[in-house]
This record gives sequence, structure tokens and C-alpha cells, in this order.
Amino acid sequence: MDTDTPKKIRIGVLALQGDFEAHIKALADVGVEGIAVRLPKHLADLNGIILPGGESTAIGKLMKLYGLQEPLQQKIREGFPLWGTCAGLILLASETDNALAGQPLLASMHIRVRRNTFGSQRESFETDLSVPVLGETPFHAVFIRGPSIEEVGPQVEVLARLDDGTIVAVREGHLLGTAFHPELAQVAGHRDARFHDYFLRIVQSVKG
Ligand code: GLN
Repeated sequence: MDTDTPKKIRIGVLALQGDFEAHIKALADVGVEGIAVRLPKHLADLNGIILPGGESTAIGKLMKLYGLQEPLQQKIREGFPLWGTCAGLILLASETDNALAGQPLLASMHIRVRRNTFGSQRESFETDLSVPVLGETPFHAVFIRGPSIEEVGPQVEVLARLDDGTIVAVREGHLLGTAFHPELAQVAGHRDARFHDYFLRIVQSVKG
């Protein structure tokens, strides 16, 4: 009997508020089951978790209310792969400049973010980003009232910057963060799944 058959990868998507469905669809496109996570019991048997975009204040409050804040922080301490996109990145950040007082956060990645950085005209915009870890083809990044990353710790790898130098994608070991929405990225009329693939590679490397 072949006992080495690889187990299927299961990625949780925090499904309390925001655009979690788009991530579940993007995962399906790369052949991975996305599991909606609403309660601590949904964390069982996952290989990684995506924190979607939405409103970090609402997601944070619900995360606390449903008893997910502490179990997620514990998973991060254990080296579990997490990817925060937009509001999800704010939840991961160790510091935010203008978090609401008492806003529940996971506060795990050594970065300082500023919420709603891109004022008025640039609140929402799209741009082609150079992301060397994804290859030469630029990644079409959709920003929707996103944060910027103002400072990173020495252990944090910068994956992408805007033309003006603003940091918008980072990795710290098993933690990945993007200020934009890769689940909405298209290339030539198709979904560009390269960021989801990149996260899956992190998941595989941790899973061994
Ligand atoms: N502006 C939102 C926040 O501060 C993030 C927006 C998004 O996730 N698209 O939480």
C-alpha cells in the first residue's frame, strides 16, 4: 500500500465580514478547498488561513466575539501559515498608526501599518506591481481603501513597493501580507492566481 499519498491541502478563510467568498473562489481555481472559518472549531485540520479584506474594525470585533482571537494568535506562535490581505494585513500588524482605541488585532507581524493611507483620489486604484518572487510579469494589484506599510522589522522581507517606494507586500517567515486584493487580480481576462500559489508554497514548506 502506498502510504505516501499526499493529504489534500485545506485553507481556512476567515468568514466573519468582507470579501472572503472571492478568496474561496480563488482557492478553488488553484484546486484547493477553502473552508469558511467562523468559530474556533473550524480551525481544526487546516494547513493555512487567509484573513480577507473588509473592515478591520468589524472583523476584529467579531473575531473577539466568536472566540477566535486567542486561538489564531496561538496558531501564529506555532508557525502556522497566515496571509492577511488589506484589512487582514491590518489585523496581522504589530502596530497600526490609527487603529481605533481597543480595536482587537492579532498583532503578530513586525510591521507598522497606516489604515486608509491613500486619501481621496487614490483611495481605490489599480496598478501593475513588480513582485520579483512571482516572476517577471507584473501583478495587477487592486487597492480598495487599503493600508500602507510604513515600517518593517529586520526579519521582514519586502516583496513589493509602489513606484513612490511605499511598501505594499511583505513576508515574515510563515506570515504573508498584502495591502491590496490578489483575489481580484486578473491577467488577460483570467484570474491571476500567482499570489495564491505563492501562499500555497509557504503552506507546503511548513507542512513538509
Ligand atoms: N479600510 C479598511 C480598514 O481599515 C480596509 C479596506 C479593505 O480591506 N479593502 O479596515
